[in-house]
Parts: sequence; C-alpha cells; structure tokens
Amino acid sequence: MKQLYFCSLAALLFAISSCGNKEKQSNDLNSFTSSNPFAEVSKLAYQAPDFDKIKDSDFEPAIEEGMKVHLKEVQQISENKEKPDFQNTIEAMEKSGQLLTRVYRIFNLLTGANTNPKLQKVQEGIAPKLAAHQDAIYLNSELFKRVESIYNERQNLSLDAESKRLAEWYYQQFEIAGAKLSDADKIKLKKLNEEEAGLSAKFTNQLLAATKAGSVTVNTKEELAGLSAETQDAAAQDAKAKKLDGKWLISLQNTTQQPDLQSLSNRATRQKLFEASWNRAEKSDSNDTRSAIIRIAKIRANKSALLGFKNYAGWKLQDQMAKTPEAVSTFLGKLVPASAAKVKGDAKELQAVIDQQNGGFNLQPWDWDYYAEQVRKAKFNLDENDVKPYFELNNVLQNGVFYAANLLYGITFKERTDLPVYQKDVRVFELFEKNGQSIGLFYCDYFKRDNKSGGAWMDNMVGQSKLLGTKPVIYNVCNFTKPAAGQPALISFDDVSTMFHEFGHALHGFFANQQYPSISGTSVSRDFVEFPSQFNEHWSLDPKVFKNYAIHYKTKKSMPQALVEKIKKASVFNQAYALTELLAAAKLDMSWHTITTKDSIKNADQFETAALHQAGLDLPQVPPRYRSTYFLHIWGNGYAAGYYAYLWSEMLDDDAYSWFNEHGGLTAANGQRFRDMILSKGNTEDLGTLFTKFRGHSPNIKPLLINRGLIGK
Ligand SMILES: [Zn+2]
Repeated sequence: MKQLYFCSLAALLFAISSCGNKEKQSNDLNSFTSSNPFAEVSKLAYQAPDFDKIKDSDFEPAIEEGMKVHLKEVQQISENKEKPDFQNTIEAMEKSGQLLTRVYRIFNLLTGANTNPKLQKVQEGIAPKLAAHQDAIYLNSELFKRVESIYNERQNLSLDAESKRLAEWYYQQFEIAGAKLSDADKIKLKKLNEEEAGLSAKFTNQLLAATKAGSVTVNTKEELAGLSAETQDAAAQDAKAKKLDGKWLISLQNTTQQPDLQSLSNRATRQKLFEASWNRAEKSDSNDTRSAIIRIAKIRANKSALLGFKNYAGWKLQDQMAKTPEAVSTFLGKLVPASAAKVKGDAKELQAVIDQQNGGFNLQPWDWDYYAEQVRKAKFNLDENDVKPYFELNNVLQNGVFYAANLLYGITFKERTDLPVYQKDVRVFELFEKNGQSIGLFYCDYFKRDNKSGGAWMDNMVGQSKLLGTKPVIYNVCNFTKPAAGQPALISFDDVSTMFHEFGHALHGFFANQQYPSISGTSVSRDFVEFPSQFNEHWSLDPKVFKNYAIHYKTKKSMPQALVEKIKKASVFNQAYALTELLAAAKLDMSWHTITTKDSIKNADQFETAALHQAGLDLPQVPPRYRSTYFLHIWGNGYAAGYYAYLWSEMLDDDAYSWFNEHGGLTAANGQRFRDMILSKGNTEDLGTLFTKFRGHSPNIKPLLINRGLIGK
C-alpha cells in the first residue's frame, strides 16, 4: 500500500496526534547549542539538509528547542495588544515554528527511511509531547479569538484569494480541534483525546504482538508444496530463529489475504494460514483487540457529540473533499453493486476450475488467490521473468518517469553528486523549467533496507513557500530489491507503477506555487492527495513513454508488442476482487465511525457481520481487506473515516485521465493545463471546485468502473 506523509507542520502535528502516551524520559538529553546543525537554515543549495553534519544526537534537543521556540512565538501572537489582523495573526502563525519544522521534517524522513534504535527511542519519547504541543496551540482560546475575528471579517479585509483561503483554513483547523468549546468541554475533550491516544497505542502494540504470535508453524515439507525454494528457505530460517529447528514458519502480513496463499497447493495449509490471519486478534488473550476497538469507537462518538456532530465521520470529513459521510456513502454505493456482481461471476469461474480438476469442494477465501493465479497464467501466459529485463531501474527513471514529465511539463533533470545524502544509495537530481529556471531538488531512495519502513512514500525536506522564500526539496522512498554488486536493478511492472506514482506526488510538490506553507503543494485533504500520484501512473503505459523506457538491458531492443499487450491485459485481471475487499474495508470503517452515543456495541464480530450485510458485501469468499480487529489504518494510523480516500482519489485520477484522452492525450499543452489548474494549486481553492474547473464537470465515476473492468468502454 502506498503511503504519504503530509507536509505542513499543522498537518504533521494532526497526523501524530493519535500517537501513544507512553512516558519515556530521556536521561541523556543533550542541550541545544548554536553548533546544532538545525540551529540555522542550511547554507546548501535550496536549504538542503547537510547530512554530513547531522548526528542522531542532534534531533531530540533540536525538537525540544523547536517546540519551546514555537510556543513562545505563538504566545507572542496570542498576547499581542494590537487589534488582530491578517499579518499579525495568520501570517505570523505561518512564519512561526520554523526550527521545529526544519528538524521534524528530517527526523520524519530518517525514522521512516533509515532508522536505528536511538532514533526510535527519541521517536517514542517525543510523540506524546508533540501531541500536547498541538493541543497547546489549537485549544488556546486567546489565539482562537484572534483567528475567529479575522475569519468573520475576511470579506472586508481586501485579502487576496490565497490569503482568504488561509484564514478560512486556520479557522476550520481550530474549530475541528475543539477551539469553540467551553473550558469545561475542552477539559472533557482533552481527556477523551488522551484516552483515545492511549487505547490507540495499546491497539497498535496488541496488534503487533498478535500478528507476530499468529505466525503459522509448518512441520513437514509436504505442507509447503507450491512455495518456491527461496520462500521455503526463508521460512526455515524464520523457524530456526525462533528455535523451531527443522520446521518452517510463515509469518503474517498486515492484510487478510496472505501472499503465500497464491502458491500453496496444499489446501489444508492454505486454510490454516488464512484462519491464522483472520483470527489473529480474536483469541481472548492479552492481544485480543475487540474491547479496545469498541471503546475507541465509543470515545470517538462521544468526542463528535461534544463537538456538535451526529457521528465521528461527520466531524472528521469536514475538511475533506467528500465533506460528509452521506457523500462517501453515495460514492461507495455506486461501486458496490457492480463490484459484488462481478466478483460473484469471477467466483463461478474459479469454481469451474476447481470442478475441472475434480477438487470436490466449494471455493473458500483461502482458495481464491491460488485459483486466480492459475487462471491468470492460463489466460495471459505472463511470466515476471520475461518482463523484468525490460525494466532496468535507472532506465525507467530517466527515460520513463523523467521523460514523461519532460513531454508533459517541459522540465529537465540534472544529477547532482555534490550534495550530501543520508545513505549512499540515495541519488539527487536538480529540476529545471524549460527556460532554465531552477525548480528544486529531488532525492530518490529506491532500495529495500531492513531499517526502512515498508511501502513507498513521498515527502518534502523543505516545503515551497514564497512567504518564506523556499523552493521544494522532495524525496521518494521505495522498497525495491537491491541487486547484487555490479548487477543491474531489474524491477517488476508493479515497481514501475510505484515509481510513476511517487513521482506524481513529487510533481504536486515541485509545481507548488503558494505564498503560504500550510496550504502549499501536497498539503491537501487525504481524499485528494492520491489524485496527482495515481494520475501520473497512467503515463507508464502511454505508448510513446513505454517505448522509450521498456528496453531490454542486454539486447537494447524494445519490448515486443505481444508482451506489452499481455501486461496491459493482466493489469486489469482480478480487479473485482481487489476492489471488493477494499470496498468492504471502507464500509466497515464508515460503519464504526457513524455510530452515535446512543448505540451500544457489545460484540465486535456481530457488529462487523451486520455492517457487511447491510452494505451488500457479506460475501463469504471475499472478506474485507482488513478485519475490524486488525484494521490498523483506522484504529492506529489516522485513517479513521478515511479509508475510502484511496478509491475516491481513483475516481478523480481516472476521470482526469479520460479528459486527456478526449483532448489528444499526452501533449505539452494538456500538461500545462493540468499543471496550471491542479498541480500548481496546492490547497488554495476548494478542491472539488478545482477538479470541476479542470474536468468541466464534477467527478464522474464511470472511468473508474471501466478501468476496473466493471463495465465495458
Ligand atoms: Zn500515494
């Protein structure tokens, strides 16, 4: 699953607000001095961080000092005797907290992409302090009074459009955080926040332990039939590490379906593995998460009632493009019938394969991937090993990802080897406009390491802002297999899509053209942020772009057309399953977050079953991508009432891409229009309006249905 860290400090702080409240005092706290590399703005090009000078021990004192300075600056704003105006309040807020932002961005980068026990320890200790820091700002009533008076007067202050939007954004962020509550209610809210944060941390730890404990032990080689020799070796190693010599251990991944289910030909092992996944957190032991999630859902309902909303989703969706739970429900409702119908048809197809082979059983969820893989091979005859030699990483990057950006937006790239990096595999490129004007710096860190989080993401090291005089410094992190020394990095087509995806986020950041950092570039709502990235994926299969990068690393020949067609066809295979399990998870998320204070949930499993039934998604062969009891996104990671965002963004990107197809496809003129109307806009206008202006109509779901193979063209 692709992920993205949000950019502005306010957004960063909101994102970490659900972190745990573990108290961990550091006893070797270094003091902050002027020699700390974060004390001043970096003197390198674009204020790029000077990784040669930054030490692990610099972070904690710089973050502590950053919070202290930030709080002092905010206090000066709130205690200002002058009448509140845009400059002395809103703009002053935008200028505040620069030390904290500077250090936190780099801390965030390293704890995600290149961490170590020392940084992890700082991370645990600092999270609750940052959460309290956020409360200290957003529940400051004097400060809110100033923001509110500017908001109320905004039509009469002759503000430009971006400034007016920023004033509205601040007002909304304060309001969402509870600034309008009475002092008594603020105390109640802080308490609920605290309890929620504690339970959320507890859930995260329980799930981690439950997932680890859920590993399946296999006693005989026969039970592993179908797994590759490499996978079997790895399972034997894992068993050995747990003193289970001579056995095999299959560890659990975060999702319901497990990767090995695709290859395991032993049906009993498949069932065992699936059930281990499905029941991982429901064993009535200390890792059982059921009571925690019921309580979290209840707390969230109570919080939303306190804040004047019918349910948590209503409160949470205020600043999202969808705006209301009803809009999300309508959206998901358009997908469910077609997706469920298609997946039922696919189930029949898989059952036919089972019957042909005289299996003598009914298709179960643990059989799905195994038989789907057989159908995929028979239908498309596509072998990864035939494909990878055409996707050499550097060639994909420069002649694919960069090439497409050059055709669409005219930008050029030059590698910089003079700037320090945090790990030797990281590469740096400088971007230029067609006229030679510089844009910013792009760092890419593509290879898997054991000190890097899973998945792929983008973020800024330095954000774009005209007010602060900064240009973007952006990074992409992925987890591709690193080749042996001297060998080319040959990647899969899925990896190619990931590179285009993450660079789509990067373009959204590079083309930012904002005055204010809080609404610059990718600082948009969760249901919009995946739009530019998913949109950029489309260009990976554009004939002109594909021909330019899909070149055999040895023979230098273009990929044969027959193989190209196979990739295209295989890319829509089994999409109904993938969509339906996503929909089921999105529906579960919304059900848990639309309960009211009056609802009392006694049994998490019964609640889940009823929710799926009500959604028309009680399909025994297609379980949700995450079950309630291991749905980390919504209980631990800030995606509560937000899991639908992936699909919502997909509606936007498929619809925007169809605009291109209607207007001549990949041309510089079309690229310029997309850049002007979407990529350069940040969060300066209502995001729905932005989209509608570009597309000529509000988002249409039909292109998504076509791309997912649910309806014909
Ligand atoms: Zn993304």
